[in-house]
This record gives sequence, C-alpha cells and structure tokens, in this order.
Amino acid sequence: MSGSLLVDNIGELVTNGLGEGPLGIRRDAAVLVEEGRVAWVGAAAYAPAADRRVDAGGAAVLPGFVDSHAHLVFAGDRAAEFAARMAGEPYTGGGIRTTVGATRAASDDDLRATVRRLRGEALRQGTTTMEIKSGYGLTVADEARSLRIAAETSTETTFLGAHVVPAEYADRPDDYVGLVCGPMLAAAAPHAKWIDVFCERGAFDVDHARAILACGQAVGLGVRLHANQLGPGPGVQLGVELGAASVDHCTHLSDADVDALAGAHTTTVATLLPGAEFSTRSPYPDARRLLDAGVTVALATDCNPGSSYTSSMPFCIALAVREMRMTPAEAVRAATVGGARALRRDDVGVLTPGARADLVVLDAPSYLHLAYRPGVPLIRKVLLNGVPQ
Ligand SMILES: [Zn+2]
Repeated sequence: MSGSLLVDNIGELVTNGLGEGPLGIRRDAAVLVEEGRVAWVGAAAYAPAADRRVDAGGAAVLPGFVDSHAHLVFAGDRAAEFAARMAGEPYTGGGIRTTVGATRAASDDDLRATVRRLRGEALRQGTTTMEIKSGYGLTVADEARSLRIAAETSTETTFLGAHVVPAEYADRPDDYVGLVCGPMLAAAAPHAKWIDVFCERGAFDVDHARAILACGQAVGLGVRLHANQLGPGPGVQLGVELGAASVDHCTHLSDADVDALAGAHTTTVATLLPGAEFSTRSPYPDARRLLDAGVTVALATDCNPGSSYTSSMPFCIALAVREMRMTPAEAVRAATVGGARALRRDDVGVLTPGARADLVVLDAPSYLHLAYRPGVPLIRKVLLNGVPQ
C-alpha cells in the first residue's frame, strides 16, 4: 500500500530493540510505516507527519507474533481422541495416522480452506508470521501438494515427510526413508524452505533422522527437528550438531542437551510448544533451566489436530508464564523475536527501522496483560506488512 502511516499515541511500545529492559520498551511512542516497513520509531511528541494515522489510544503495541511451528495442512479433527486422553488414555503419537488417512482423501480445495481458516484465526490473534509444515500426506504426491498449498499462504514452509512411517511401510521403515530422501524430497523441495523430522521412539530413530536431514541440506533446505518430546533421546544434540535453526519440544532434556544448546557457537534455538503439553496433559518443558543456561528460547503453537489444536500465541504465552516459569517479558520475547530467530529471520519479531511493519495493538495498557488476562481476546488491531487487517 502506498503512502505513509503513523501508529500514534502508543502507551507502551515493545520494540525488542533499543529501549527499557529485555523488550526494549518505549513509552508514549509512535511508529511510522512506509512501504510495508518500519521507517521511524520514537516519542509521539516528535512523530513526523504521515498520510494516515492509527490512534492506539494509549494502549500497548507489540511486534506481531512469530509462530515458528505449525501443522496446518490436514483434514478431519481428533476431538474424540482428545476426549479419550482427558479420560486417562496416554498420548503416543499414533493418532497421526488417522489424520494421514483423512488428508489423503481430501480435495485440494478442502485442504486449502483449512489452511486459510487456521491462518486467519491465528492472524486475528496477532500472528503475523506462521511456519507451515507438511507431514499428513506421506506419499510423493500428497507431500508435494501439501507444500504447494502451504506455500500459497506462507514463505516459511517445511517438508515433514518424516512425520511418522505410514502404515503401508510399517514393516520396512528403511524403504520409507529411501522414499523420503529420494522422490518425495525431489517433489517437495521446490515448495519448501525447511526440512523437519519427528525424531522420537515410535517415529524416526537418530540414524534415519540424520540421513533424512542430510539429504534435505544437500538440496539447500534448512534444518529443524521435533526432538525430545515424549522422552529423552539424541534428537536435540543431533540438531545442534547439524546446525539446525531450531529443535522443537525439548520437553525431556539431559544436562548434556542443555549444554549443547547453550554452547558458545550454537545458533540452534530451543522452541517450546506448551500447547502440546496442555493438550496431552503431560509435564511441561523446563523453560527456566534453558533460559538460566543462556539458551535462546522460542514459543510456538504446534497447531495440529492431534496434540495441540490451538492457533493462539497469547494462549501459549499465558501457559509459558504460568506453567513453565517464564516471566511475562521472557514469554513475549520468545513469542516474537525468539520465533524469528527460530526461522533465521531478522526482519520480523522486532519493531525497529527497516523491519517489516507487522504489529499488534492490544486492548490493554501493557504486554503483561497477555499472561495476566488469559483467554481474553486482547488483540484489537493487526498490521501485516503495514496494512491494517
Ligand atoms: Zn509439531
């Protein structure tokens, strides 16, 4: 959109740049937007003139949330499985195959409608960048079409052909790994930026995960990993060794895992997904331990129909504060610039000159209210690429 836009009368502006405290807060501030970018940030009293004005009414303004982990391309839901779990059945990850069956049977238009519905739902809750994974197709054609549809909505697309071994390969997992590394990767790669593997007992072991991720790296995809969700394992250290942008879940960590993530040369982010622990009634990861060790932490929704059917970053922030001993400032940082780091982006998650003008105006005087008022729709307005939504 042409012309400049001034977001004015901001009581509390979270920049994640220069300013007060870890969130780089500025008071009584304004943000000038030009051509979809932040052109100027400063005191409202000194704000330059602009073609249009958005009055924040003294409320808080934050960078839009960066949800770096979501599975939006699927069909059907698993509400009955959720109910059974809440009645005492454990979560094993086996229900993924239920969604695979429904996804294969769905039309392109059905899958597209679900992606758009969930992306819209997230946007209304302040998410301006959202990663989208494949992983419910698990055939060459179904993974390729999942990514093609995901790429219509996001540039952050992830090939997750190694989500689970599909039923037809149950007794020959090596053959499935060969399919993933061969024709499936070739069909998926043109539509994907990242490759991911569910490295977990019952899914893919460390040797298979290493082989698949190496194939992805060889064709230029960045690495991310589902690791250490259901129990301890080698996934986190594999991710650090391969220079993954992010290892996700990190629920069961050894001291060596934490040391690897905190290493001086480590650029791998630990992405925590508390919606999954909420929805599977499982113990939460220990965010405090990671933060105290100096690890970069991101928060994401893990939005998927089985283990975390929420698209709400404010909900994840509230969970992180209440259940994972993060301060509200740490949780908001993790949900914005933390997510950006997990996607190796420096143009989102911050409100500093040159960044994308992705921002949210809260219906509250402070970011603290995101955790203090859980479950309340506090997102009053969203600007995406400088455009009011
Ligand atoms: Zn996931």
